Amino acid sequence: MTTTFKGGVHPAEMKELTSEKPFEFLPLPEQICLPLSQHAGKQALLLKKKGDAVRKGEMIAEPDGFISAPIHSPVTGKINKTTSIITLTGIRSEAVIINRSDIDEDDLMEPLNPVTVAREKIIERVKQAGIVGQGGAAFPTYVKLSPPPDKKIDYVILNACECEPYLTRDYRFLIEKTEEVITGLKLILKAAGVLYGIIGVEDNKPEAIKKLENVLRNEENISLKVLKTKYPQGAEKMLIKAVTGREVPPGKLPFDVGCIIHNVGTAVSIYNAVVKGEPQINAFLTVSGLGIVEPKNLIVPVGTPLKNIIDYCGGIKENAKKIVAGGPMMGFAQFDLNSPVTKATSGILVLTGKEAPGIKESNCLNCGRCLSVCPLDLAPTRLYKFSRFDKFEEAIDIGLQTCMECGTCTYNCPAGIPLVQWIRYGKRKSSALLKQKTN
Ligand code: SF4
Ligand code: SF4
Repeated sequence: MTTTFKGGVHPAEMKELTSEKPFEFLPLPEQICLPLSQHAGKQALLLKKKGDAVRKGEMIAEPDGFISAPIHSPVTGKINKTTSIITLTGIRSEAVIINRSDIDEDDLMEPLNPVTVAREKIIERVKQAGIVGQGGAAFPTYVKLSPPPDKKIDYVILNACECEPYLTRDYRFLIEKTEEVITGLKLILKAAGVLYGIIGVEDNKPEAIKKLENVLRNEENISLKVLKTKYPQGAEKMLIKAVTGREVPPGKLPFDVGCIIHNVGTAVSIYNAVVKGEPQINAFLTVSGLGIVEPKNLIVPVGTPLKNIIDYCGGIKENAKKIVAGGPMMGFAQFDLNSPVTKATSGILVLTGKEAPGIKESNCLNCGRCLSVCPLDLAPTRLYKFSRFDKFEEAIDIGLQTCMECGTCTYNCPAGIPLVQWIRYGKRKSSALLKQKTN
């Protein structure tokens, strides 16, 4: 039986553009641009200077604080310069330009046996490898592997829903890298000291479900949960509710209801770090949309400019209107093809006017449609109005920080109001106010 949550929407899936396209390696770019902020928390501290040689896999920036992650070079070459850029998620970051050389040398870590490796060693390796969550927030993964001792964790949930339209990266992981996914999940279970693992998949992936059922037949402590296809089924709170029946109260975390959630891509990165000794130097992503000549699933070095990826996919069609990093619901519009891919980039979409019609904004009709689809029972109209007019205190009082920025309200608004964009603005602007409130 499939289970799901209240609210949500059913956008056109568009997964058929890439679902049958196996991962391909993008040819190594001549030059990469490596942002030092590719994770939640403080930007990493650069260890190199102009002219220094670097090898593939070498750490070039170290973490700065608890919620920070090291950055490794995805290529062998020389530091050309440092510069300041705007990342795909719209934040300013220092970045390192590396000119690739033809020397094929690397500096990977020692491979470890996934069966006998100790719990502490897994956590240390995940930290060293600079792994960040691939579900969107780019939170350093090692932190989530060490739950607070006073929290009893019952389940690790692997998020394989991939509820955003177009994206098929996680689907390809399930089909092409099934063993890596399961071994990665077992490493997470061991590291976090948790007995049971659950993989949550939407029911629009029958081939992946069949494959997982076969592989999991002899696994006693890992089960599969098939969920209804609905956006945003992959959001943490929705997934926990659908899989375990537990509700994460506002302001609380999955830990508080005995769960840890990781993205399926994060499990693959953990496998690569432990079994192959490879830090997180590649991004796995879907390139899709009706505006790109040849949609594909790709493995690309982190720091690769968008233009290299678009060229490799045959270029942009004449009727292309918008480029988005991530999925169409939660992704970020892009303005510069020199912007580089980061560790958590899941997709690059080139959309036509038909796919991104951009309804002209009009006044709110008070139709209540945004309210009826919000999975968290928030009042998007009020949140947006308070944010737009800088009334942050009022917005915080009615749950501004609880909003998960899923974009469901915007998708369903007949007046074309960019509700989630204003809510996002409000959340960023009000963080200082919130700090004052909690101190
Ligand atoms: S973006 Fe926020 S307010 Fe809008 S539907 Fe999602 S959770 Fe609700
Ligand atoms: S869906 Fe749009 S038009 Fe309808 S109430 Fe919400 S903001 Fe207003």
